[in-house]
Amino acid sequence: MLAVTGIALLVASGCSERLVAYEDTRLLMDTVVQIMVYFPEGASGEARAKKALEAGFGAMARVDALMNAYLPGSDVYRINAEAGSGNWVTVSPETLKVVQRALWFAELSGGAFDPTVLPLVRVWGFGTKPHVPTSVELEHARSLVNWKDVELDPATSAVRLKRPGMGLDLGAIAKGFAVDLAARALRDAGAKVGIINAGGNVYVLGRRPDGGKWRVGIRNPRDPGTHVAVLELEDQAAVTSGDYERFFIEDGKRYHHILDPKTGFPAQGARSVTVVLPCKGAWTTDNPSMDADALSTMLFVLGPAKAVEFANAHGVGVVLVDERGEVVRSNWVP
Ligand code: AMP
Ligand code: MG
Repeated sequence: MLAVTGIALLVASGCSERLVAYEDTRLLMDTVVQIMVYFPEGASGEARAKKALEAGFGAMARVDALMNAYLPGSDVYRINAEAGSGNWVTVSPETLKVVQRALWFAELSGGAFDPTVLPLVRVWGFGTKPHVPTSVELEHARSLVNWKDVELDPATSAVRLKRPGMGLDLGAIAKGFAVDLAARALRDAGAKVGIINAGGNVYVLGRRPDGGKWRVGIRNPRDPGTHVAVLELEDQAAVTSGDYERFFIEDGKRYHHILDPKTGFPAQGARSVTVVLPCKGAWTTDNPSMDADALSTMLFVLGPAKAVEFANAHGVGVVLVDERGEVVRSNWVP
């Protein structure tokens, strides 16, 4: 078993006679990223596996270089630097696509998901020194968060933020997109079977070589060594948003990194939300991990009741741990 943040993989070590697992782990996007692919045993299989792994990690590194808000020169960094200046910032087609999708989820959720949350993330000190902000700081930051003030020009692949002080933060969706690109890179490199685990963003290709489904454990938010449920996956993406991923305790109270743009405070009601989407299906087109990533954050903010209602109405798989530690599931969960 390979234990990692967010979701742990329950992988049988044995596999069929011919295919063997090739695995590598790297630190990317602030996360331990593990990719495992199956190729035939022997020198040529190993060479193909290495190429596939390289392509997978390379895809994720490229997304980070484009969308990391804290990386000078990245698309998102440049957009934020020009906030309120009136200047359009030309970005890569990938960044445009993720921003467009993020705004789509913002509209869908009435702003519960909001990619302009950066000013709030900053006053809470997530990324630097986490602390409870003053009410003045909080109100000011909250006034700068509004997805409707993001302007897009798809014809020239340009983005701008209307007001000074605004900031894009794609932290709730970019990792999922990176995993989608990594999965595509693995497939293009000939991998039919494999698994990507980027700290709670899991993508499985095919079935395990022994014919079984991939078993992915959902962590107990208050006892990360144990699981509250086990998913059985095949060609699916599963993403967890949890209040235990980034948090601090001040005056005995727990504060975490998933913020409710309405209140400015950490979202209440859930401890973790796991979303499962098929790689191909009605819900998503070609980016199941991106959509599952955005959805897990969005449903976390909306809270358990709305999350399950949404999941059932849209055929999305959800396993949620609420604030009492109860596990709640949508109708469809693999
Ligand atoms: P995730 O772990 O995918 O749920 O994403 C959490 C990250 O997304 C945080 O660290 C913030 O950078 C950002 N974020 C926090 N609150 C929101 C929100 N309401 N909408 C969109 N992004 C958010
Ligand atoms: Mg997310």
